[in-house]
Amino acid sequence: MASLCVMKFGGTSVGSADCIRRVAVIVQSAAAQARIVVVVSAMSGVTNQLIAGAHRAATGEKDFLPKLMGDLRAKHVAALEALVGDSQNRERIAGVIDDVLAELERLLQGTALLCELTPRVLDAVSGGGERLSAPLVAAAICELGLRSVAVPATEVIVTDGHHGRAEPLMAETREHAEAQLRHLIDDGVVPVVTGFIGATADGVPTTLGRGGSDYSATILGAALGAQETVIWTDVDGVKTADPRLVPEARTIPQISYHEAAELAYFGAKVLHPNTLRPVSSAGVPVWIRNSFKPEKVGTRISAKGMSNGGGVKALTAIREVTLVTVGGPGIVGLTDVLARSFGAMAAMRANVLLVSQSSSQNDICFVIPSTDEKEAVEALRSAFAPEIAEQTVEHVSARAEVAIVAVVGENMRGIPGVAGRTFSALGREGVNIIAIAQGSSEYNISLVVEAASMQRSLAALHKEFRLHEGVPAA
Ligand code: ASP
Ligand code: MG
Repeated sequence: MASLCVMKFGGTSVGSADCIRRVAVIVQSAAAQARIVVVVSAMSGVTNQLIAGAHRAATGEKDFLPKLMGDLRAKHVAALEALVGDSQNRERIAGVIDDVLAELERLLQGTALLCELTPRVLDAVSGGGERLSAPLVAAAICELGLRSVAVPATEVIVTDGHHGRAEPLMAETREHAEAQLRHLIDDGVVPVVTGFIGATADGVPTTLGRGGSDYSATILGAALGAQETVIWTDVDGVKTADPRLVPEARTIPQISYHEAAELAYFGAKVLHPNTLRPVSSAGVPVWIRNSFKPEKVGTRISAKGMSNGGGVKALTAIREVTLVTVGGPGIVGLTDVLARSFGAMAAMRANVLLVSQSSSQNDICFVIPSTDEKEAVEALRSAFAPEIAEQTVEHVSARAEVAIVAVVGENMRGIPGVAGRTFSALGREGVNIIAIAQGSSEYNISLVVEAASMQRSLAALHKEFRLHEGVPAA
């Protein structure tokens, strides 16, 4: 039996009719070798537009809705017209687009009427973009003579009810995937599944978090027992550093799940943080490839990465983060500061990116995405309300305008001197290091620096570890 491959195409890869046509060609050539399941993101920009629209509606405003809906319709219908020749087919798909848009508009009208945006409604709205793009991609694949259908992931990926950051229930998802997709795959039809979204067992729509289509792809790969998952995006693969910040950055041909997870975790823009979770235990490889340059082989992520000899394989940086500090007189000596702080963060599912505590235990600090700052500070203030009430000193403070820079590589383990070289290189550049963390796994040394010195730090470290020389090809 032919092997099965799940291919995910990101927002820029399906950003216009031309891009979608390119996607269809990639699928067509892959379908000659293997059975293919496609996962798609919304056309680029659409999710942002929908989320912004939802927040605007929540203020009671609704006059902007006809224009928003009109813009979204125009964008998708223009792609449809460029992609599909047959008029009956076009009408059918235009009908699907109009149905989705009408539903979105009703949800946004309701939001404006109530002046309230519930997480549940936000999920139903923000997942609309994938429901609009999937029929276009399926149609483009059909245009090339293959058979393809759009499948809403609400019928396939079963999640918990944590709106905005839902997690899959794998046993149920496996059952649904078998029931909804297996017969299509066996018949040689290419299912085009909406990324990013799922539904609870009761059918309430959820989303897997921003950038969640990557995660959708590996969830489906694991559920269907696919031999590989390919994440098609707009970069050549995993890089030694973000090439926009370090122009000498090179593509890494092979890395391990561990290394990739460190990079994903720290915001390498190519992966949703949970992407590797469903496939790494089964050892199923994940490829990162560029849909605009399919001739490039990309990066292969698997159980065994490949050594580049030097220990450090890549650098990563994450901006738009906030350093939160919990400390001060009322807190010294409390034994449950960590438990209460992280309990509060866990309750809101904040993505805690880095944690540091000095041995004096006077304060702990951790880094979260700036988008979580407000909620996190409120949650911590209420977690420590009794102590704060007794003191006049502020116990919870937040500092934005920082960035995390991390040095990553599985083979750093046991190589002495990596930390020393890291600090010396930054010292020579005059970079002030605000906080430091290294896990005992030794795959990653992370530093919090001022946002303004992030790029300088990356350049210095890239040079120090000679990453511009690249990693030898497999
Ligand atoms: N469309 C969603 C987002 O923009 C999911 C994704 O692109 O992966 O976050
Ligand atoms: Mg996207």
